[in-house]
Amino acid sequence: MIFDYPVERQTRRHGPAGYTSYGQFRAWLRDEFTFRCIYCLKRETWGQVTGDYELDHFEPQSSNPELRLDYENLVYACRRCNLTKSAQKIENPLTLLCSERVSTLEDGTLETPDIETKRLILQLDLNSSNLKNWRILWMRIVELAERNNPELYDQIAGFPDLLPDLSTLRPPVNHRIEGINESWFARRERDELPRTY
Ligand SMILES: [Zn+2]
Repeated sequence: MIFDYPVERQTRRHGPAGYTSYGQFRAWLRDEFTFRCIYCLKRETWGQVTGDYELDHFEPQSSNPELRLDYENLVYACRRCNLTKSAQKIENPLTLLCSERVSTLEDGTLETPDIETKRLILQLDLNSSNLKNWRILWMRIVELAERNNPELYDQIAGFPDLLPDLSTLRPPVNHRIEGINESWFARRERDELPRTY
């Protein structure tokens, strides 16, 4: 389902370090978070990308300036979610926003039995009526496309055409060089890219 959160991950696949500006992490983060917002799951393939996706410091830069260039502190987020989060202090979204803790109901609501995840959903306003209606809209579009238009379904439920080739990037340090083999580009080269995700 298009609004299923990913399974919980304890570690990241990639580990670039030593860049001098955080914008240089963008390609790694797009791949790490599978081309969608970590908070609301809005996908790049659903509209404009330029200006719509930001690199969010989940420990705010204002309270933790030393983590400004720390890859582990960066997530890929849509503009709406990054703005809503602003300088709020939140718990690690990689741990809280996962399929073990959150499910999306048919009426577009995010449901969780978990108190910390509930707090994060409130902080990001992820159950606003606007967002719930937006989820219903996309669930309908995807369902219609799956039934009637395979090409459109591939486009909106599959990967973007242009995947970043991380093997061509040269960060000063890479703590998880093996992650490049697990990148979506490398999987496509091996014909292992799923049709949809
Ligand atoms: Zn978002």
